[in-house]
Amino acid sequence: MSDRPRLTILLAGPRGFCAGVDRAIHIVETALARYGPPLYVRHEIVHNRHVVAALEAKGVIFVDEIDAVPADGRVVFSAHGVPKSVPAQARSRDLFHLDATCPLVSKVHREAERQHRAGRLIIMIGHAGHAEVTGTMGQLPGGSILLVENIQQAEGITIPDPDKLAYITQTTLSVDDTGQIVAALKRRFPAIHGPKQEDICYATTNRQQAVKTIAPRCDAVIVIGSPNSSNSNRLVEVARRNGCPLAMLVDGAADLDWTRLAAVSTLGITAGASAPELLVEEVIEACRKRFDLTVEEVSVTVEDIEFKLPRALVV
Ligand code: SF4
Repeated sequence: MSDRPRLTILLAGPRGFCAGVDRAIHIVETALARYGPPLYVRHEIVHNRHVVAALEAKGVIFVDEIDAVPADGRVVFSAHGVPKSVPAQARSRDLFHLDATCPLVSKVHREAERQHRAGRLIIMIGHAGHAEVTGTMGQLPGGSILLVENIQQAEGITIPDPDKLAYITQTTLSVDDTGQIVAALKRRFPAIHGPKQEDICYATTNRQQAVKTIAPRCDAVIVIGSPNSSNSNRLVEVARRNGCPLAMLVDGAADLDWTRLAAVSTLGITAGASAPELLVEEVIEACRKRFDLTVEEVSVTVEDIEFKLPRALVV
């Protein structure tokens, strides 16, 4: 019998890569294989340090703006989406560009345009400064979309004509917080129009549901993801609010805090939508070296969504 302490890992399912992240990375890798390095990517293709470092090692150069791309360069836009001014700038410079915006983010862009055409002011529920919010707000002229970040702002916002109002949301928010903000907006502005289908995407919803399911059984929950990953940070919050106060975001096995995990007998593990499964395996292996391990997969649903590559890469 092992003299190591026992640890049960509850592995949340679904976890890790979503269809939008998978497609974005596939676009960059396919473009690299077809055209060779260097390939420029505007903004981190997805919010994960390991993914970014691995692509840099293959010849990808990440830039903040496409001004930094030389005239003969090729550039990819990240999965989070870009303001309309970015492809316009690329076209005006005759730059070869590929758009890796997740189709579910593009859907929100089209929704914003539809509400704008209907003459409605739009409230976007989201986090200021996040690339997706910047991209979505940049689909329309300034002043067409107002940002609401929390329930206090939803309660305080003043609207010139409440009969001509709509809301949209960032795709990676907390399902519960957003529900409360939407309820407050609907109570204050009963005529507000909303999306036919929720803007929070299937991947965000499923990963939060899986964490809600395991958190009450866990002494600690580890969320694998980078600090700038919105959906990963939401998973930490979901664990804390659903029965597991000791929830931690780690970029990988090297960040594990063994002192805090010493007294844990049941550990939940999940990964944000931009975190590769390899990082999950490394965390489990690091645990195996210190504990007598039992791993139990707890899956709330099976995902089978796939998005196609842009036509320019298929032909
Ligand atoms: S988290 Fe959702 S919206 Fe974001 S890339 Fe993945 S599927 Fe698309």
